[in-house]
Amino acid sequence: MTQNFEEIYERIQKAKSKAGRTDKIFFTAVSKTRTADEMREAEKISWVDFFGENRVQEAENKRALYPDSKIKWRLIGHLQNNKARKAAEIFDCIDSVDSIELASRLNRIAGELNKKIPILIEVNTSGEESKSGIAPENFSELLDSVILQENLKLEGLMTVGPLTDDEKKIRKSFADLRNLIENARISTGLELPILSMGMSDDFELAILEGSTMVRIGTLLFGARFYPNKN
Ligand SMILES: *Cc1c(COP(=O)(O)O)cnc(C)c1O
Repeated sequence: MTQNFEEIYERIQKAKSKAGRTDKIFFTAVSKTRTADEMREAEKISWVDFFGENRVQEAENKRALYPDSKIKWRLIGHLQNNKARKAAEIFDCIDSVDSIELASRLNRIAGELNKKIPILIEVNTSGEESKSGIAPENFSELLDSVILQENLKLEGLMTVGPLTDDEKKIRKSFADLRNLIENARISTGLELPILSMGMSDDFELAILEGSTMVRIGTLLFGARFYPNKN
């Protein structure tokens, strides 16, 4: 795993220098389907900033086996309204907020739990129907609602690139997210440091388009074997 990481890290550095960037890029190790033991291994790598999980139940089970984890856990998978409370209890950050209803619900629950929840808004920039995320044309309405929720702390945006080999299409979907965050920074005055885009197959393109957080599973841990789907 350490060697996998070193290769990924080198590719990140190359993409950064190609983009003329020297700023920090956060690394989320996508640990869905991996065991708590594999996660312990990953946490030893000092550049791993976060774990990313896509299912509330799986994360709850693993957190019980791994209560001593020292890095934060992010929910990167779609969140159903009826699992919002559990998610708010288990996760440190929720990256997949994609509706006003979910945001309001999380805000209310955060108030009851007496905490402030860091979140990202997930945008479906690829237009693929199978993907979650708010449609770009509805983004500003959701943004206006989220920034009024006093128990949510908006840290940025997330997207999943389209499933295609067409680099232009992939880059466009990332560039669209970057445009949305740049406009949102201006309209809200918030820092919004996290632009979460780029996975094992497309993280270099995402870095060229300004990603400040990549989410990598397969390249780090190896191929996934399911019960879970992507
Ligand atoms: C599974 C997943 C990833 C990681 O995908 P890999 O191709 O294994 O790197 C990243 N982001 C989200 C939202 C995912 O569901």
